[in-house]
Amino acid sequence: MRIVILGAGQAAASMAARLRAKGHDGPLTVIGDEAAAPYQRPPLSKAYLLGEMALDRLTLRGPEWWTDQRIDLRTGERALSIDRAARTVTTDAGVHEYDALALALGAAPRRLPAAMGGDLPGTHVIRNLADVDALAPAMQAGRNLVVIGGGYIGLEAAAVARKLGLNVTLIEAAPRILGRVAAPETADMIRDLHRAHGVQILEGTGIAAIEGTDRATGVHLTDGRGIPADIVIQGIGVLPETALAGAAGLALDDGIATDAQGRTSDPAIWAAGDCASFATQAGRMRLESVGNAIDMAECVADNMLGADRDYAPKPWFWSDQFDAKLQIAGIGAGHDRIVTRAGQGDHAGSVWYFRDGRLIAVDALNDARAYMIGKRLIEAGRSPDPDAIPSAPDLKVLL
Ligand code: NAP
Repeated sequence: MRIVILGAGQAAASMAARLRAKGHDGPLTVIGDEAAAPYQRPPLSKAYLLGEMALDRLTLRGPEWWTDQRIDLRTGERALSIDRAARTVTTDAGVHEYDALALALGAAPRRLPAAMGGDLPGTHVIRNLADVDALAPAMQAGRNLVVIGGGYIGLEAAAVARKLGLNVTLIEAAPRILGRVAAPETADMIRDLHRAHGVQILEGTGIAAIEGTDRATGVHLTDGRGIPADIVIQGIGVLPETALAGAAGLALDDGIATDAQGRTSDPAIWAAGDCASFATQAGRMRLESVGNAIDMAECVADNMLGADRDYAPKPWFWSDQFDAKLQIAGIGAGHDRIVTRAGQGDHAGSVWYFRDGRLIAVDALNDARAYMIGKRLIEAGRSPDPDAIPSAPDLKVLL
């Protein structure tokens, strides 16, 4: 069986490794348009942007590994189209035949429209190594940075910039930061952390335009204010890469639609990671996280080899901001009750999400124990008494 994987990020690397580990002996090709071999993305907006992590530590596998595994890793090669009838992929370097094809294409950052200055020089996004290599040299002490968007990208970049001595204003159009991914109680802890480190956070304020003629010089807010900027970072979310799949006529539904095993509407084509929305009993889901990229890719690899296994995500996330660590287990969307528990020390505590009395997620800031116990409970499908959480002398009693 000839297997071709499009995309060369975390999902692709995990899938390729798993295919070999599980005994796929036939031709295996990984094609990605970035110049670099597959690397870890999470440090890009953290240690790598800060200059505390070198490129060789980002790289997932050294060149000898790809050779040893007999995987044809083709970087700097862009897939242009899929011919499902002929079972071929055409790239800017040639044509590849497949028996099974996997789409691990990831997601692309949104930008404000050009008419709003979204593509002016001096504006940046953070997704790829090249994005961060372009941004890092500009992050110099004393400069004014405006971050648009109060999600993880924006908050992590704001924290790095303060550490480097920039003046930072973060603007969130929604009523509060982290609106898509966390409860107000978690957002409150993160806002306090940023304010304590001198980040100016403006919420419920939209951007009218990024200003500047040759390059960005500031942002103009919808409430009429103007904020000067030497650098603007747009952290306003990502869109799943669906263009190739759509052009090939595959079903799309908030990403490339797959069944519970990761198979697209064409049984010879699979999808995994940020680009894939997979069927679950509770409806369709698409997760943007490295944990999902790894776990779904491994499940898809198993299914390509005949495992017949549904993907059961165990969502977890983390974010490093200043010297604080936010850890999240589960998905809080749809909760009907929140319980909070104070942690030890500054900027520490946990937020517990319940739905119909069932524990569905825990956010823990500087509280590894709350995270660990919450994660164990969620994965075991067990729910503690919510009223016991705030005052239990030791969380272990909940287990
Ligand atoms: P995100 O989580 O979708 O956050 C984007 C934020 O920007 C949202 O709060 C959004 O608000 C806001 N926004 C959208 N348009 C805006 C505008 N015109 N003006 C001001 N604010 C605006 O996405 P992200 O932070 O860009 O991150 C990209 C992806 O990388 C996500 O999948 C994220 O989870 C992932 N990531 C994860 C981590 C981690 O787990 N530690 C770290 C970095 C990145 P609305 O929701 O109201 O649109």
